[in-house]
Amino acid sequence: MQKIITRFPPSPTGYLHVGGARTALFNWLYARHSQGEFILRIEDTDIKRSTQASVDAIFEALEWLKIDWDAGPFFQSQRFDIYREYIQKLIDSGNAYHCTCTPEEIEAMRQKAMARGDKPRYDGTCREKGLGKTPDAVVRFKVPQRGTTVVEDVIKGNIAFQNDELDDFVICRSDETPTYNFVVVVDDITMNINTIIRGDDHVMNTPKQILLYHALGSPLPTFGHVPMVLGKDKARLSKRHGAMSVTAYRDMGYLPDAFINYLVRLGWSHGDQEFFTRDELIRVFDIKNIGRSAGVFDIEKLQAINADHIQAAGPGDLVEPLKPFMKELGIEIEAGDYVDRVIKTLKPRSKTLAGMADASLFYFKNDIVYEEKAARKFLKPAVLEPLRLLAEGLASSADFSEKALEDVFKSVMDSTGLKLGKIAQPVRVALTGKTASPGIFEIIAIIGKDRVLQRLDKAVAFIEGKAESTGRG
Ligand code: GLU
Repeated sequence: MQKIITRFPPSPTGYLHVGGARTALFNWLYARHSQGEFILRIEDTDIKRSTQASVDAIFEALEWLKIDWDAGPFFQSQRFDIYREYIQKLIDSGNAYHCTCTPEEIEAMRQKAMARGDKPRYDGTCREKGLGKTPDAVVRFKVPQRGTTVVEDVIKGNIAFQNDELDDFVICRSDETPTYNFVVVVDDITMNINTIIRGDDHVMNTPKQILLYHALGSPLPTFGHVPMVLGKDKARLSKRHGAMSVTAYRDMGYLPDAFINYLVRLGWSHGDQEFFTRDELIRVFDIKNIGRSAGVFDIEKLQAINADHIQAAGPGDLVEPLKPFMKELGIEIEAGDYVDRVIKTLKPRSKTLAGMADASLFYFKNDIVYEEKAARKFLKPAVLEPLRLLAEGLASSADFSEKALEDVFKSVMDSTGLKLGKIAQPVRVALTGKTASPGIFEIIAIIGKDRVLQRLDKAVAFIEGKAESTGRG
C-alpha cells in the first residue's frame, strides 16, 4: 500500500486555535497510525497578514501538544520559484493565460452577470487572446466550461460542482504573487501529499484545486472535510465562547494528552469510549470514524477529561507540568518522594494543574491563612480541648503511620466524647486553612510531626484570641 502522507498547513496570521489544532491532530494521528509521514507547511504567501510572532506561536502550540513533523516546516514564501515554474507549465500546456482586463472592466462583467441573475464572474474576455506577459497582466486558470467536478470526500461523501459555476480564477496576480488555491495544489503535489484532512470551510476551494490537479496531470489525494467546531450555542466557535488559543489551555493547567483526547473526540469516535491515551489514539485512529456532525466545544467536558488524565498519570509524571504553576505561586518544587506523595493525594481531586497547585499550598507553606468562613465555623472554643489533646497525643507518638494516627485520634474521641467528624474538620482547617483537602491522616503523615504541632498550636492560639490569621474566603 502507498505510504500515507498528510500535512498541516496553517496560515501564520494568528495563534493556533482550537479548530486548527484539531485539524493538525487528525492529520498527525492518521500519519502516525498508518506509519506514514506528517508534513508541516507554513502558508505565508499573504505577506501583509503573516507574522513571525504567529509562526512562533504555532510552533509553540504544536510543541506543547507533542505534534511532531517528519518534514518541514516549509515556508511558501520561500517557494516562489517553484510556483513560477508551475504557472509557466500551465500556460505552456494551454491551461492558463494572461489577462489584462482592468479592475473596472471586471467589475462591469460582474455587474452584468448579476443583472442576468448569474453569479458574479469573469467572462473569459482574454481566454483565447494568447496574450503575453505585461506588467499589469494576471494569470488565469482555464476552467473547463462544461461538465461536473465531483469532490469524493471520505467524510461527507460525494459533492458535485458544476464547472460552469466556476470562473477562470486568477492563479498569479500582476505583482507576480501566486494565489492560495494554486500554491496549495503545487505544494501538495510536490510534497507528495496523498491525504488532505481539513476544515469544511475549504470545501468550496476543492473543485478548483481538483481541476488544477487534472491540468497538471497529477493524481488526486484523498480529501476529507471536517465539520467546524461549534460553541455550546451551536454558533461557530469564536472568542466569545472562551479562549481560542491552544496555549491558553496549557496556561490554565490542562495536560497536552488530555487536550488532544478532548480535541479528537470533537469529531471522531471509537465506539463510546471517551478516555484515550496518546498511544491508544495512534493505535485506533482512522479517518473512517471522523463524524459528519459538528463537534461542540464544552469546557466542562474538557475539565472532566483533564481530571481523568491527571488521575491516570503517575505522580512523577506530573512534577514537570506542575512546576510552572507552583512557580507562579512562589514555590519551587523538585522531583522526589515528598512531592510525589503530595501529588498523589491531590490527583483524585484536581481538574487542572492550576487547581492542583492552588490546593497544594499548605504542603509547602507554613504560614497557613484560614479561610474566614472556615475559621468562623470550625475554630471555636469548643474545639480547644480536643486540639490540645490531639497535639499532646501526636507529640508523644513515636510513629506517624496511619494506624498510629488512628489510635491518637481514637483516644481524643474517647476522652472528649466527640465523633471523628467533629474533630477532623477543625484539624483540617488548622492544618490547611480550608474545609476541603485530602484525607486528614494522609496530610498529617506527609507534613510531619513538627509542622503538624506548630499548626495545631497556632490554631489554639487563634481560638484563644492570641493570633490573627484569616484570609477572605
Ligand atoms: N492555510 C489554510 C488554512 O489555514 C489551510 C489550507 C488547506 O488545508 O488546504 O486554513
